[in-house]
Amino acid sequence: MAILSGRSLLFVTKRLAAAWFSLSLCASLASAQGKVRIVVSVDWEGRSLEAENLAAFNAFRNDYPKIPLQLFLNAAYYTKADADPKLVTDNIRSVMRPGDEQGLHIHAWRSLFTAAGVTFKTEPAFKGPIDMEKCTPDCGHDVNVTAYSEAELRKVIAFSIKTLKKHGFDHPHSFRAGAWQADRKVLKALAAEGFTLDSSATDADFLKERWGKTLLYPVTKKIWPDTRASTQPYTIDLGDGKKILELPNNGCLADYVSGESILDSFQKNVAVLKANPEKDVYLSIGFHQETAVKYLPNLRKGIDLIQAAAAEQKIPVEFVVQPLGL
Ligand SMILES: [Zn+2]
Repeated sequence: MAILSGRSLLFVTKRLAAAWFSLSLCASLASAQGKVRIVVSVDWEGRSLEAENLAAFNAFRNDYPKIPLQLFLNAAYYTKADADPKLVTDNIRSVMRPGDEQGLHIHAWRSLFTAAGVTFKTEPAFKGPIDMEKCTPDCGHDVNVTAYSEAELRKVIAFSIKTLKKHGFDHPHSFRAGAWQADRKVLKALAAEGFTLDSSATDADFLKERWGKTLLYPVTKKIWPDTRASTQPYTIDLGDGKKILELPNNGCLADYVSGESILDSFQKNVAVLKANPEKDVYLSIGFHQETAVKYLPNLRKGIDLIQAAAAEQKIPVEFVVQPLGL
């Protein structure tokens, strides 16, 4: 029998301790109920339904058939002066699949707000006040929705719901504000109109490179100062017995993040899962319909990297459309 020196004995003890630690970590992850639940969301800007973006969207659906989508639909497609309602509906439906969730997205389009009976405002807008002489056929996408009162926002929310339902879509209960601008007033308007989930929180630093010199960056930072890639769903108390569940868009959208950045957000959530393996963690990522050609490749890469990393690290992952049981 070999006799171990003091140094060798210490080395063996350290190796045994490391082996025990990794075994216990594996065992705890294997027996855990928790998963990384990934919500893939789509913001519909209400600007246009171009054939090339819808084709890229459809290709994504075909290549990732098991990923349901949280669709934040927009009624502004129907309020454009030249809108063909049947074509709008057919185009939106062409990329939908069973299992998708139909939520609501609002930008402060002039046509939408006017149709809802609200007087359009030209500012504050992220790239400066709107020049009404250039407002053809529509404008207002980058006007901050928080410029409007709670009563005005309720009118637009109610009108959007009515419009989408009139064209055969579900009554939405989930929401994302244009440019993530859901301050307390917006959240109160949502809760008053029956919404139970908002997914507007994000880390403004994702937006800094592209929007750092515009109003968008500081106002988003001010509304969501504490949101990070690993921030988990939480309830926001709005007073008067009203509340709303916040599902942070913690991995942001593909226009602002590379595939590697999406993987990085996933890994930050894996760390949260490992710290408490029995509790599900949520990662919200996604893209915009209007920029699907340009930015869906980022999301595809991010999802591919996540699936490879999850398989390698044996991390349970599930694609869902909203938090379960919260
Ligand atoms: Zn948007």
